[in-house]
Amino acid sequence: MSNNHQVKAKKHLGQHFLNDETIAQKIADTLSLKNYKTVLEIGPGMGVLTKYLLKKEVTTHVIEIDTESVEYLKNNYLNLASRVIEKDFLKYDLNEVFKGESFAIIGNFPYNISTQIVFKTIEMRDQIPEFSGMFQKEVAQRICSKEGSKVYGILSVLAQAFYDAEYLFTVPPEVFNPPPRVESGVLRLTRKQDYSLPCNEKMLFKVVKAAFQQRRKTLRNSLKTFNLSDNLREDVIFGKRPEQLSVEAFIALTLKIENDIN
Ligand code: SAH
Repeated sequence: MSNNHQVKAKKHLGQHFLNDETIAQKIADTLSLKNYKTVLEIGPGMGVLTKYLLKKEVTTHVIEIDTESVEYLKNNYLNLASRVIEKDFLKYDLNEVFKGESFAIIGNFPYNISTQIVFKTIEMRDQIPEFSGMFQKEVAQRICSKEGSKVYGILSVLAQAFYDAEYLFTVPPEVFNPPPRVESGVLRLTRKQDYSLPCNEKMLFKVVKAAFQQRRKTLRNSLKTFNLSDNLREDVIFGKRPEQLSVEAFIALTLKIENDIN
């Protein structure tokens, strides 16, 4: 254990402290530092990743829910002390600190709230040009996967509607304390140059969720509750299953559904 101060990991907070400096540095180096001057690290714990962020030409803020970790950070990283936010990332209004400005997100994330972290990022995409860090491997792969893959799902489509997603590297359980039961994966999301949607966002989310909730069924069946016209339901796309549709195809489908309903 490289940290001289031993904090007992709290399972309900998804605490798995990274113990490998090389990997911590490698994760910090996934930031491109383009299009932002500020970085927010989610769940810094005892700061293994934070110390490499502090060496970069950006202003680092951290948000950490655990009081014990917050005290450790404030005592050990004096130049960070005023930028430690002791809050729940999912509940906190980040604009109390960032006031509408752009920032990148990074972290060795708490895996128990992975999906919600990605959804909050998507919601705040106007301010988040880049997002990188570590999830459990399966989640990282899902976010980055393309149509045709069996892990392609809601998160893949909704994240890739706005971001280019790259799976960067895999990290084994042994480099954490305590080791998680699964492998981990590091990814990077880079916001697309034009990330505006030609269709209604809420409708896209509804269509994607309904389609993948019954992923074995054709869209004709899974989208029944949308009360679409017989005419539209005969479109060849309704004979497909959700994993066959690219992000662009989901957007085109949503447009057709909007036109049909109106
Ligand atoms: N980055 C550190 C710790 C990773 S463990 C390292 O690599 O060693 C995940 C961290 O997220 C823990 O410190 C945990 O307390 C924190 N965390 C869990 N839920 C959180 C939430 N909702 N908001 C902010 N931090 C959270």
